[in-house]
Amino acid sequence: MVRFVPLILVITVAVLAAVFLATSGNKGKLGPFSGERAHAHVASLVGLGPRHPGSEAIARARDYITGQLREAGWQTSLQHFKDETPRGGQEFVNIRARFPSPEGGNIDWKRGGGLLLLCSHYDTKLIDSIKFVGANDGGSSSGVLLELAAVLRTAPELARGIELVFFDGEEAVVEFTEVDGLYGSRHYAKFWRAAPAGEKPEAAFVLDLVGDSRLRITPPSDSPRELLRDLYRAAEAAGERHIFGLHPTPITDDHVPLNAAGIPALDVIDAGYISRGSWHTAADSLDSVTPGSLERIGRVILRLLDRRARD
Ligand SMILES: [Zn+2]
Repeated sequence: MVRFVPLILVITVAVLAAVFLATSGNKGKLGPFSGERAHAHVASLVGLGPRHPGSEAIARARDYITGQLREAGWQTSLQHFKDETPRGGQEFVNIRARFPSPEGGNIDWKRGGGLLLLCSHYDTKLIDSIKFVGANDGGSSSGVLLELAAVLRTAPELARGIELVFFDGEEAVVEFTEVDGLYGSRHYAKFWRAAPAGEKPEAAFVLDLVGDSRLRITPPSDSPRELLRDLYRAAEAAGERHIFGLHPTPITDDHVPLNAAGIPALDVIDAGYISRGSWHTAADSLDSVTPGSLERIGRVILRLLDRRARD
């Protein structure tokens, strides 16, 4: 028997080494991101019906989002405000979430230095003629953010460098002007505009329209170059570079007020969706949003975060 002992030792050492390599090889890798779970969040939001500002459904959507965030270990803060719209005064509520430190304690929501913002809008456009549920427009990006929140729980240090923001009132009540649309992001950005440079969030990625089956991400032509480069690199690493391009013009979306406030912000948007026929119609329904598309975006964003954390 004695002569078998070294063999057993060799096997034991080999197994331990393999286990060690397998676990250490996973270090720094986030995920997996589940498109199915993200899609289930979209289904829950869509199931509430049209979620325009001030509606009962958007209040329930807020409860759902904050509930999911807290379950994933995040702390939330609601930003209530009022603004004038073409249809009169309206109440809006932005949702902010940050990951607490291990000691717990209160989060200082007024400090943003070094933070990366990941944003979505969770309202849907009020369209009188149809029951518009915004599965792709408002739903898809919110579902992706909720699944990201769950995944990031496993990387608390990284999560603490992020603020998740769900804007209310992205949609114009009538049509986009300086004072109609982007209500939530304009209000949110106003605070940071006055903050000293070192106290502002470092950058922002705004997700919008990320669930269509023919997904192609085309950020606006005037996007901050560094963020665009980071996004393309992450897409390359995730094997998804072919669905990323550039839109030929600027785009009106929640990244605009952030950029104006001195926070470099990139709109991660399928701009082509706007002209493909389903945008702001009843065809923007749950069955047009695919888990596969949500997963592609989720995986690219995770690559992006992972890379930023290591650089
Ligand atoms: Zn819209």
